[in-house]
Parts: sequence; C-alpha cells; structure tokens
Amino acid sequence: MTSSSEPRALPTTWAGVTFRSRHEARWAVFFDHLDLRWDYEPERYTLGTVGGTYLPDFYLPDIGLFAEIKPGLAGDVDPEGVWRWEQFAAAQADNPNGGKVAMFCDRIPDPTKVTETGPPKCYRWFESGVFILGDWHYAWCACPSGDHFDVQYEARGGRIFCGCFRIADDHYRTGDHPRILAAYEAARSERFEGHRRNAA
Ligand SMILES: [Zn+2]
Repeated sequence: MTSSSEPRALPTTWAGVTFRSRHEARWAVFFDHLDLRWDYEPERYTLGTVGGTYLPDFYLPDIGLFAEIKPGLAGDVDPEGVWRWEQFAAAQADNPNGGKVAMFCDRIPDPTKVTETGPPKCYRWFESGVFILGDWHYAWCACPSGDHFDVQYEARGGRIFCGCFRIADDHYRTGDHPRILAAYEAARSERFEGHRRNAA
C-alpha cells in the first residue's frame, strides 16, 4: 500500500481544529473544497446491545453523513475498530432518524485515476475506497446541478437527495466532476503551513 508516506498519527491543525492525524485533516480539506460543513469527533455513541462505544471521526450535517476515516487496509490494521463501526452503522440503519454511515479507506484518491464511476475499484473489504454497511464501490459524486455532493453507489449523482432534481438513469455518473477532482487534488497537496481554511 502507498498509505505509509505520512506518519500514521501526526496531529495536524486545519480550520482551527487539531486532528489526530494528517490523513483526517486532508479529508477536512476535501470537505471544505466541496462546501460541505463538518464536525470533527462530534459525539461518542454507546453501542447498546454489544457494549462499548464508538466515536465517529466526522459528521457532515448537510448530507447527514457520519464519516469514518482509515489510513488503509482497515480490516487488517484495526479489525476491532471496523467491528465497532459496523455496530454503529447497523444501529443508525435501524433508527428512522439515523444518519448515513460510510468508511473512507486509504489515501485521498489520485484525481488523474478517477473516472465517472469514481476512483479505481478495490477488491478487498476495507482496502481502498468508500464503504457502507455491507457494500462498497461507493464514491463521491455531484448532483445534476453540480452544486451538491454526496457518496452514491458507483457515483450515480442523479440519486442525490439535494432538492435540485434527480436523474433516474443509473448511467448518469459524476465521480469525475471537476470540483470533486479539484477537491481530491487540494486535499492531497495541502501542506498545512498556514492553518487556514482555503476559499473554495
Ligand atoms: Zn443539487
């Protein structure tokens, strides 16, 4: 894997928030470039029936998404963390008011390798890419107006519930929308010297 080019846990400040790792801070840069608001480590949840707790890395209120960030090969390096994430995702799915839950594994995608269906496919659970409970091949995509962003299966941007309009055609895919590619690039290249929020 190529995810070892940065220390696994280098505290990094971005937009006034100090993240446990530079990798988490890069995702905050990505969200900022798509004008998605985010809360870092918003609230610790009790895993009722199975015991223990789970602390999401991010909550994105604009799209109701809990985002878990892993540096890569999460199933190998942190199986217990993956298990707790799965319990949390199941509880959210069972809750009528629950949020969406996704895990983002490995490095921020290389924009030169992203196609309309999103970054290159992974072929192992929790290896590289966006995972939801029981499924993968999700990717960031844009709604038909190009103003809103979310994760959908194979980057099917017409499925985003944003209030613009929807496109039922499953071949309508926007994983390589220019703003998404620019956000990937910004997140990968940020040097975290100014500690300020970039203008999107
Ligand atoms: Zn929209």
